[in-house]
Amino acid sequence: MTTAPHTEPATGFHALNLMPPLLEALDRAGYKDPSPIQAALIPVAMTGRDVLGQAQTGTGKTAAYLLPFMNRWRGGDPMKPQGIVMAPTRELAVQVAEEADKLSPSRHFRTVPVYGGQRFGRQMELMRLGCTLIVGTPGRVLDHLSRGTISLEKVRFAVLDEADRMLDIGFRPQIEKIMRRLPTKRQTLLMSATMSPQILKLAQRYMIDPEHLSMTPEVMTVDKIEQKYITVDEEKKFDLLVKVLERDKPRQCIIFVERKRTADKLYKNLKPHFPKVSVTHGDLPQPKRDKVMADFRAGKIICLIATDVMSRGIDVSGISHIINFDLPNDLESYVHRIGRTGRMGKDGCATSFVTPEQGEQLTGIEHLINRLIDEDRIEGMEAFTPRVKEPENKDKKMNPVFGRSKRKYTNRL
Ligand code: AMP
Repeated sequence: MTTAPHTEPATGFHALNLMPPLLEALDRAGYKDPSPIQAALIPVAMTGRDVLGQAQTGTGKTAAYLLPFMNRWRGGDPMKPQGIVMAPTRELAVQVAEEADKLSPSRHFRTVPVYGGQRFGRQMELMRLGCTLIVGTPGRVLDHLSRGTISLEKVRFAVLDEADRMLDIGFRPQIEKIMRRLPTKRQTLLMSATMSPQILKLAQRYMIDPEHLSMTPEVMTVDKIEQKYITVDEEKKFDLLVKVLERDKPRQCIIFVERKRTADKLYKNLKPHFPKVSVTHGDLPQPKRDKVMADFRAGKIICLIATDVMSRGIDVSGISHIINFDLPNDLESYVHRIGRTGRMGKDGCATSFVTPEQGEQLTGIEHLINRLIDEDRIEGMEAFTPRVKEPENKDKKMNPVFGRSKRKYTNRL
């Protein structure tokens, strides 16, 4: 009688049936176990089915959508890309391309990022060396298409990454033009932090019977992040910032402001106190923004002052603190800003400066994240009209059905 050889059940990425070069690349990258979105998305996408995935940056979504495509790739004409990822910002396009390079199964699998602000010539040179996957912002991809410098005829795999953000920016017409030029025989994956009716409409138009996968982003990221607010008068915000930085000593932090002008002014004022500070916003030339991001990623910059353009897609694992120097006007930006910390299961801390007039805005944020935010204080920095202190609330959760807390704000009276 013969007995079957005893084999251990495969675990981690091995259980996902990925080809050996990918397992080796994952090993080199130091990824031991698939994150929840990877464990959920990879097996479905490997069947070739379209997927509508609700997940934020920071959950490992990029590898989740790249690996199934890489696993299926078997060479082919290096001049004709087989995959395209569309992303809302240059920063995200660069990051996705870096992740693709990191996980690439072969030196013949080449990824080229294309985005505005960089010379066409440079991007064409890179494509001439071979391009399996294009990662680009919709505007620049379309520019290349109209110049005839990108061919989509062999594309079998398309991803709309951070689709909600792309629609917010107003990329819908460009996305639709590109989608209409893709071969119909393809797999389409759409990733979005939120599933609005507009997203579903886009999915309905360009996807075939997609499987919906939801990773409930608020619970995944926001719950792990310690969140606090400090009430402060507008004119004392700078002094408060210096005190918070001195007290909390962040490993790395992003200080979010609403206006580019505030960002520049803050940078000038903060530099004498903290030499490892830098600033980034949409008005700076792309090479300068790239340099700042590279320095931030390398840990040469400790405090980065940024506007919301940067709130998505920044993926720097050393970020321990987020400071909302200004509360965001758009509530959802709060979640995206604080999601820059607490990456891949790490803890993080987010502190928001709230002026006495902004009580309602803070309530709106608490409602959105379904959680009360703790008050923090720094001696000598109290606002002239502080927010009324909250009666003790044990579990700090808001009732998801009945919503609002019973908080009161002096400024509402
Ligand atoms: P993403 O959500 O794709 O922006 O990924 C967030 C960060 O997690 C990136 O720095 C990835 O390189 C990293 N990452 C992705 N998957 C894994 C994994 N399974 N294990 C460890 N790190 C990962």
